[in-house]
Amino acid sequence: MTFNSVLDDVQIYEAGKPIELVVREYGVDPKDIIKLASNENPYGTSPKVVSKLEEVSKNAFVYPDDSMYELKEALADKFQVNEHNIIVGAGSDQVIEFCVHAKCNASSKILMSGTTFAMYEIYGRQTGAKIIKTKDDEHNLYQFSLLYEEEGADIIFLCLPNNPLGECLDSQDVYKFLDTVDKNTLVVLDGAYQEFASYKDSAKSINPADVISKYPNVIYLGTFSKAYALGGMRVGYGISNTDIINTLYKLRPPFNITTPTLAAAIEALKDEEFVEECIVKNFEQMTRYEEYANSKGFEYIPSYTNFITMYLGEYNSKQIAQKLLEKGVIVRDMTGYGFNAVRITIGTQEQNTRVFTILDEVLKNS
Ligand SMILES: *Cc1c(COP(=O)(O)O)cnc(C)c1O
Repeated sequence: MTFNSVLDDVQIYEAGKPIELVVREYGVDPKDIIKLASNENPYGTSPKVVSKLEEVSKNAFVYPDDSMYELKEALADKFQVNEHNIIVGAGSDQVIEFCVHAKCNASSKILMSGTTFAMYEIYGRQTGAKIIKTKDDEHNLYQFSLLYEEEGADIIFLCLPNNPLGECLDSQDVYKFLDTVDKNTLVVLDGAYQEFASYKDSAKSINPADVISKYPNVIYLGTFSKAYALGGMRVGYGISNTDIINTLYKLRPPFNITTPTLAAAIEALKDEEFVEECIVKNFEQMTRYEEYANSKGFEYIPSYTNFITMYLGEYNSKQIAQKLLEKGVIVRDMTGYGFNAVRITIGTQEQNTRVFTILDEVLKNS
């Protein structure tokens, strides 16, 4: 059968491996599995969210509130914007999809960093758009500017901080760049890990209310999947001016957010203390990975997020990741991105201690 030919160039997204697979394929006891490949919050679902989920489960037969009034109000309050400036998606992934489909067709161009979040390219290619990447892997605004002058772009993606590398641009540099961008180019500021970056260094902090008041062509994206510990619930959001938001709404399927998801997100926003504690522990634990890398002579990219990308020197990262997997430690091999490195989500203290022990063992036998 022939299909839409633009799909010939679309790669299928490869998600981090689930616990169930490691149990099935390697016979590891589920309680011994350490899942550090998807940048989830390792401290688990907050107890308040769990009890809220139990409470709403009896209403499973009713369609969700499609206006998402309560969640949008809570987000509007948190970010000091109007509810009309917000769209909620099944993960911020879905909002990325809306953005791409709102702007692009086969003659469009999308500009992004050399190595960045895979979904920008996947959604882009679904429309047949041309994907333009900077030569540098990490964000380099000088190269963005040159390519933008040369080629133009319908969408520019900036990932702040960047997944899978962990670096983050300074917000002042981002704003200076935005000043140079044509108002018909949509700029997506992906803030999936902003909570981490702005805690570590206020110079990285992006204020969505400021951004949208100054730049009518920018959308800021946030998610509940990372710091807010709701990866399994699938919820994220976009903040932008009403012209953009109203257009994205044309692409939104009805009831895209389920009742339990809405309830969980609203509850999670009430418990900022939990989120902050997790972020503090994240960076405490991050230093252990830096020390570990230094002790082995491995280079790493200084990280503003909840993961660290560590080069493995003369070891083969694909083999090391596989051997870790067989011992129940799930990390992300970066060979597919052209790096002999692994990306490891920062786990809890106990998890990280075990990761170092198991990694020592694996390295010794490699
Ligand atoms: C995780 C992630 C997202 C979105 O995740 P959702 O679970 O779909 O909200 C978006 N951008 C980046 C860079 C991410 O790492």
